[in-house]
Amino acid sequence: MIHEKNNSEDSSPINFSQETRRLIAYDRLVNNLGSAACKDKGVELFFEFDSSKIKEAKKICADCEIKDLCLDFAILNQESNGVWGGTTPDERNRIACTRRLR
Ligand code: SF4
Repeated sequence: MIHEKNNSEDSSPINFSQETRRLIAYDRLVNNLGSAACKDKGVELFFEFDSSKIKEAKKICADCEIKDLCLDFAILNQESNGVWGGTTPDERNRIACTRRLR
């Protein structure tokens, strides 16, 4: 979830619109892609349906420095395909539901 400092001392979430949150997530992801563990891998691996390939993609994500940014981007953009932030679409749906409950 996106948290920003506001004028008070706490770091409670600002009520950005969904579109603004998407743009912030996109900006953060794009600005950090140089640190992505998948930068030299073929993108196809992350969009396979074969369970062994999904496992392989997740293993790469596990060591990725920008995993959280990638996951936030995918959830906010409701990415319905591929492994993002080490998660499958079903796993992201569950995480998104959990976040809505908070
Ligand atoms: S978390 Fe996975 S898909 Fe996302 S940038 Fe990192 S390696 Fe690539």
